[in-house]
Amino acid sequence: MMTAMLATGGNPSSVHARGRQARQTVERARAKIATALNCKPQEIIFTSGGTESNNTALRNNRAKSLILSAIEHDSVRAAAAVSGLPVSIVPVDRHGLVDMAALEKMLGESEMPVLVSIMLANNETGVIQPIAAIASLVHEKGGLLHCDAVQAFGKIAVDFRTLGADFMSISAHKLGGPHGVGALVIRESVPGSALIVGGGQELGRRSGTENLAGIAGFGAAVEIAVADLSGYAKLAAFRDRLENEIAVIAPEAQFFGAGVARLANTSCFAVPGLAGETQVMAMDIAGICVSSGSACSSGKVTPSHVIAAMAADGKSLSGSAIRVSLGWQTVAEDIDLLVKAWREHYQRSRTRSTQRAVE
Ligand code: PLP
Repeated sequence: MMTAMLATGGNPSSVHARGRQARQTVERARAKIATALNCKPQEIIFTSGGTESNNTALRNNRAKSLILSAIEHDSVRAAAAVSGLPVSIVPVDRHGLVDMAALEKMLGESEMPVLVSIMLANNETGVIQPIAAIASLVHEKGGLLHCDAVQAFGKIAVDFRTLGADFMSISAHKLGGPHGVGALVIRESVPGSALIVGGGQELGRRSGTENLAGIAGFGAAVEIAVADLSGYAKLAAFRDRLENEIAVIAPEAQFFGAGVARLANTSCFAVPGLAGETQVMAMDIAGICVSSGSACSSGKVTPSHVIAAMAADGKSLSGSAIRVSLGWQTVAEDIDLLVKAWREHYQRSRTRSTQRAVE
C-alpha cells in the first residue's frame, strides 16, 4: 500500500487525475479511521504524529487555563508550558488513576473555559483512565477535554463518542503503522483555528501537503489493528506470567498499575535500589529492548515523572522502574528469555551489593 503510494505519488490538493487519485487515497484512510473511532471523517485532521496533535490541541484552542494530569506525556507537558496559559496539575493515586475529587476542585477554581488534558492509557504503565466519567465532569463544569489516546488506539476499543472528549490525539506508529503520521480528532461543534497555517489543507485546520504514503499506511494499519483487539488482549497472559515470575525472583518488586485496568501489553516494575538504566543495559546485551524513565531525543534517560507521581515512595523508585512492552509478535519464548536475563542481572546486582556491604 505505502510502496504503491510512494511510486505513484500525487498531491491530494491537485485537480488533475493523479491528484484526484491521491485525494481518494487520503479520504479512504480518513473514512477507515473514522469508522474505527466512531467519529465523522470531517472530525479527523491528519498531522505528523502524536506530538503535533497534542501541541495543536493544547496551543490552539480558546481556553483561558489548562489542567493536566501529573502523568501526561512530555509532548502535552511541554506544549502546556509554552501555551502562555495558567497550568494546574491534577494528581493521580497510587494506581495511577486521576484523583477525581482534586479534578473537581480544580475545575471549580480554574478560569473558564478550561481545557483539561488527560490521557486514555499511560505510555509507561498502560493504566487506563475513566475518560467518559472525566468528560462528564469537565463538561458539567463548562470545560473542554483533550484526550491523548496515542497509546490506547489499536490496543483497546476507542470510541470517540462514548469517551466524550472534544479533542483526541492518535498516532500511526503506536499501532503498527508508519512513523511520522498521526491525527487530531476534533469534535465537529468545537470551533477551531490552525496551529500550522499555509495552504489551508485539512479543512483549514492543518496546512501542508498531506503525507500521502503515511496516511495510506495509517488507514491500513488501523483496519488491521482494530480487527483483532481480542487477539491483542491475550497478551495479558504473557504479561501476567512475566510479572509472576519476576515476583518470585524479587519479592520486593513493585508492579505499577497492576491493580487496575491497563493495556494488555505493558508491564512497569521497580525493585528498590536496582537502577533502571543498568537493567536496560543488561537486557540490551541479552538482545531484549526495554525502557526506563522517558527517553528524549538525545537518548538521555531521565527518572520517570509517572512513577514519581504514583507512589508515596515514587520519587525514590522513579529511577528504578523499567517498562516492558509486548508486541503483536511476542511469543512465550520471549518471556522466558526476558525472565532468564533479568534473573541473572538481579542476582549479579544482589551479589555485588552483598560484597560491598561486607567490605
Ligand atoms: N503521547 C503518548 C502517550 C505517547 O506515548 C507518545 C509517543 O511515545 C506521544 C504522545 C508522541 O507521539 P509521536 O511519537 O507520534 O509524536
